[in-house]
Amino acid sequence: MSDNYEVVIGLEVHVELKTASKLFCGCANLFGQDPNTHTCPVCLGMPGALPVLNRDAVALATRAALALSCTVHSFSKFDRKQYFYPDLPKAYQISQYDQPLATHGQVTIRTEAGPRAIGIERIHLEEDAGKLNHIGQRLGDATGSLVDLNRAGVPLIEIVSQPEMHSPEEARLYLTELRTVLSYLDISDLRMEEGSMRCDANVSLRPLSYTGSLADLPRVEIKNVNSFRNVQRGIEHEIIRQRELLEQGIRIVKETRGFDDAAGTTYSQRSKEAANDYRYFPEPDLPPLVLDAVWLEDQKNQMPSLPEELRHQLAAEGVLPRDVDVLVQDRALYGFWRQTVAIYPDVKLVTNWLLSDYSRHMNAKGLSFDNPGVSAPHLAELLALIEDGTLSGKMAKEVLESMFATGESPQVVVKRLGLSQITDHEAIRLIVSQIVEANPAVVADFLGGKEKALAFLVGQVMKATKGQAKPDLVNALLREVIASHV
Ligand SMILES: [Zn+2]
Repeated sequence: MSDNYEVVIGLEVHVELKTASKLFCGCANLFGQDPNTHTCPVCLGMPGALPVLNRDAVALATRAALALSCTVHSFSKFDRKQYFYPDLPKAYQISQYDQPLATHGQVTIRTEAGPRAIGIERIHLEEDAGKLNHIGQRLGDATGSLVDLNRAGVPLIEIVSQPEMHSPEEARLYLTELRTVLSYLDISDLRMEEGSMRCDANVSLRPLSYTGSLADLPRVEIKNVNSFRNVQRGIEHEIIRQRELLEQGIRIVKETRGFDDAAGTTYSQRSKEAANDYRYFPEPDLPPLVLDAVWLEDQKNQMPSLPEELRHQLAAEGVLPRDVDVLVQDRALYGFWRQTVAIYPDVKLVTNWLLSDYSRHMNAKGLSFDNPGVSAPHLAELLALIEDGTLSGKMAKEVLESMFATGESPQVVVKRLGLSQITDHEAIRLIVSQIVEANPAVVADFLGGKEKALAFLVGQVMKATKGQAKPDLVNALLREVIASHV
């Protein structure tokens, strides 16, 4: 395939903020409730109902903007974005248009060629729409649609990137890093499958000969894809589709397309509105949003440690580079690691166990580090039992499996399974002596120079102790006992 085009991708990410109440009314902001049980005249768009801005939503949005290195504006304002859709009771959405909360941020992605900053054009606050539940598999076949307005008025931030990504993989890296950064702020559930994080991808192909503005390139918006993987697949398909059209000399139409998960293709939904089709105008029912300097400073002071800082910290503590990324990417995993290391400070051993056996059991049981099944103190206790020689590595794996199955502490499991290694020298020396007595021919072979004969004797001792003696100790004691017999 000839490659006369540069892929240009920009992402718009909507993130639902985890506030107690909605953006402009006191209704609870909860997911998964019975339809239309959290609504009021304000979020139903009744005439005369007046919005009041939720202070917590502004705080969470501000923290997101600070974490993404944006300039937070002390003056911003709200605007009405008009469009008609059944999930939008007022027939307009309160959003921020020409004076958003924050601008000029960045997300640093780590590509194979090294780190690269992707610009963030803006972050603004807006309200969510309600939800349509279609009766049938998909909109096209639906026999009816039910409107649930519990989500109407839930606070959102929209994070608009610069069109600076050039491959589906870069888009995936951007989303992953964005979610990681936001997860440390604890401002949202960030669940794509529940819609608390949603992504629209703008994709264009720039002919290499084109020197005009990127904004003038016809671009296609892929809407509401439900996973990072599908964002990547949707973009991949869109690149192929646009390239084929361009090579046939067909113009790309500016439009909104959906993504068909089963087919792995995008399909046309509607021609895309331009900003002026929305007839934005300043929201007359809300005063401008003016941030107090002291309040803003206070928000800055409350910022938690962010992934970039944690990566440096972990590397300094001796965690291997490949493990650093895995640990930091999942905030709950990182918290669990930190908790375990605080009790049992062998960074290498904790990391190895956590990222291998521990994670494997957890994934197999469908658990997550928010609710992991085996606690950090129990894992630390298990590792301490390896260190003091009570358990071999192999035994510890068995104990861990049982801990996941029963929820018991390692001490309890070790007792129940009768597992611990025999480290009592005298007890083992006694068994070793018995084995030596019982196998004079093998001992003679060993004394005659057959090293392999010793392995047989070690095996006999291990059998007699049901595998609970430390092999290196058995080995040493055998040599000692045989030497004293000569
Ligand atoms: Zn309400």
